[in-house]
Amino acid sequence: MNRYTIANIPGDGTGREVLPAGVQVLSAVAQRCGFALEFRDFDWSCETYLATGKMMPDDGLTRLADHDAIFLGAVGYPGVPDHVSLWGLLLPIRREFDQYVNLRPVRLLPGIRSPLREKSTGDIDFWVVRENSEGEYSQIGGRTGTGEDEIVIQQAVFTRRGTDRILRYAFDFARKLGRPHVTSATKSNGLYHSMPFWDERFAAIGAEYPGIATDQYHIDILAARFVMSPERFDVVVGSNLFGDILSDLGPGVTGTIAVAPSANLNPSRRYPSMFEPVHGSAPDIAGQGIANPIGQIWSGAMMLDHLGEAEAAAMVLAAIEAVLRDPQAVLTPDLGGNGSTAVLTRQILEKLQGR
Ligand code: ATP
Ligand code: MG
Repeated sequence: MNRYTIANIPGDGTGREVLPAGVQVLSAVAQRCGFALEFRDFDWSCETYLATGKMMPDDGLTRLADHDAIFLGAVGYPGVPDHVSLWGLLLPIRREFDQYVNLRPVRLLPGIRSPLREKSTGDIDFWVVRENSEGEYSQIGGRTGTGEDEIVIQQAVFTRRGTDRILRYAFDFARKLGRPHVTSATKSNGLYHSMPFWDERFAAIGAEYPGIATDQYHIDILAARFVMSPERFDVVVGSNLFGDILSDLGPGVTGTIAVAPSANLNPSRRYPSMFEPVHGSAPDIAGQGIANPIGQIWSGAMMLDHLGEAEAAAMVLAAIEAVLRDPQAVLTPDLGGNGSTAVLTRQILEKLQGR
């Protein structure tokens, strides 16, 4: 029997409410499909930071290293600045485990209304592949001069290796999906050095995949196209900054961030990859038991897919869709219902068991 060890980091706020829902659903599908998941809990959060001055212990990364994957709820706590959780937990994990791909599906699920009123289920169904390790998000640069003479420089770093590997991932992924069309986000008319290089590598790597169609758009018009014609896309690849923006715009056009999942991947599986919902710890609704668990559960499905349990992953997504399609379903308040996290989770479990 295949066996996987998963490091759970529930984090803060609603992360602590939706992560257990994800664990429940994954455990049920594992049992049905005949593999074993062993979850180990790591109670690291902004509350840990407030008590100890650190988001995680000094040997935290070493303790995570021997797991097959990391399942994260959300980190963030009122009064703790976002950069504490980012630099104290999320970035060290992404870097240590070389999770150079950030992958997000953009899919309009049944029963959810897109703010693009004329779009319906099936119209919006594509993937954003974001470079997750270099690019515009660098610490290189600084401030010099004073007063009116102050100058601030922020450098971006694009390595050939880093650029090629994310582009290759996007093409391989499109091929695996059977959706042979990759779109590149660029801005080579404004960014003088980095984006012409990006375009050059996109063309070079694309040439290695003769069966896959390519196109590219400047990031400004691409953002407009996400809104005007999202049905045109299959796989969209972008740098760290452009991918970051597009991977929130995507879930935005599909109606709600509460159902959107994300993966920080090390595709080689040499190190653990990390799976987390797109939403944050939602302090405004934390403690009420009404957070929507779908983003967490769908992130769990992506984790199963990454571990090689594609059939189980598909079953989880089908169960989510079956609940959303069911007019009798009791949904959470963010989807217009009056149900709790527990009630929505139970319905997903029932669909999974064919009830
Ligand atoms: P963070 O800094 O942790 O990212 P945030 O306030 O920036 O937090 P979210 O926590 O994602 O962002 O919250 C944004 C909005 O979405 C809030 O109104 C929140 O209640 C809502 N929201 C987020 N997650 C969920 C969820 N799982 N179910 C229902 N509503 C949610
Ligand atoms: Mg925030």
